[in-house]
Amino acid sequence: MSNQADQLNQRRSGERWAIDWLPYLTDSTRNVGSYTTAVVSPELARIAERLGGHNLVNNSEYPYIADMVADCADWLSRLWHREDHHAPYVAVSGSTEAAMLAGLAALHRWKRTGAGERPNLVASSGAHVCWKRFCTYWDVELRTVEAPGDTVVADPAALARACDEHTILAVATLGYPEHGLFDDVAALAAALRDQGRETPLHVDAASGGFTAPFLSASLPWDFIVPAVVSISASGHKFGQTSLGLGWTLWRDAEHCPQHLWHGADYIGNGKRDIGLTFSRSLAPVAQQAHLFTRAGAFDRYRYDLRDCSSLTATIAAALRGDPDLKVLNDGHAIPVVAFVDRQTGAVERFTSRMGEDGWIVPTYPLECNPRLGQCGRIVVKPGLSTPARDRLMASVLRAIRPQALRL
Ligand SMILES: *Cc1c(COP(=O)(O)O)cnc(C)c1O
Repeated sequence: MSNQADQLNQRRSGERWAIDWLPYLTDSTRNVGSYTTAVVSPELARIAERLGGHNLVNNSEYPYIADMVADCADWLSRLWHREDHHAPYVAVSGSTEAAMLAGLAALHRWKRTGAGERPNLVASSGAHVCWKRFCTYWDVELRTVEAPGDTVVADPAALARACDEHTILAVATLGYPEHGLFDDVAALAAALRDQGRETPLHVDAASGGFTAPFLSASLPWDFIVPAVVSISASGHKFGQTSLGLGWTLWRDAEHCPQHLWHGADYIGNGKRDIGLTFSRSLAPVAQQAHLFTRAGAFDRYRYDLRDCSSLTATIAAALRGDPDLKVLNDGHAIPVVAFVDRQTGAVERFTSRMGEDGWIVPTYPLECNPRLGQCGRIVVKPGLSTPARDRLMASVLRAIRPQALRL
């Protein structure tokens, strides 16, 4: 494994990409830091092969496209307790575009109030970089709040205090990318209410939107919380589709101004659409529609996630046995194990030992709380084969107990 990677790296310096590199490229299932789908079932691969050349915007040529998207929105409405299944929804390229659209809808809505001040957006400092992009690109002030003390999730009251009458959105993150833990949406909504302002709340549920409904069904985080005006999520994370799918659902039409929806008459369907991109592959949407409409769809998501969660629990238990590491997330709400240093350098030591076995495990300073040391994470995704899981677990045990190797 590492020899092949070395060979490839040597070639990279002098040669251009060529198709004969394919056998040497990294197997994406080895990247256990990534949230995005690495392998799909043969069924989903067949859908991608058959429909990958259909352009999502050509929904008059392929009338079933609108049905597929509407079906998915209908299922997401059920999952996320949205009463009006016909309220605005959109399938886009990923959570980043989904977040941009939620932000733009909120910005345009705020502008209608005629407020002359600079608008702002409030989020945890551990929120995804897409919010930084949104604020930079559209000149909105980003107000971030760090987690207090040695915690890793922002205090809802502190987030609410950062809001004022020019806050276009307070953003809660369901599944901090760094460690997978959730902002407390209900507590944030209550803190905003206590301030007497109706600050709109968006939930960036890129990863959690497809895990919380199955693993923590009683957690109030979605449209059940009245302050939540929009939710975004990635189909290509725990939604289990191939890369290239994100969703935004708005509570009602009032929160997604009509003037943002444009028609494109030359494709001949008279439909209006919202998005930052135009042509895209139908494949991931068709996969999502298949995953939602197959028999026992929700039970199968629940089964897959519980299965992943039981492996994260085992990994977390093993990591707890290493006195130099502290486990932040054992993966019960989302199959992510995250850990920080108790002893400087411990996370890096662990991840580099995992690297010796060919696993890519990222190491990074925590933006949600820069006072803590390095963090690492392992994301267990559905689709990891049983032998791969066994090898992953064996590598974890080896990485935390190097002395066992020396015997
Ligand atoms: C992954 C992620 C994003 C970005 O999602 P893409 O689908 O990769 O664009 C945004 N927010 C959170 C919380 C994420 O985890």
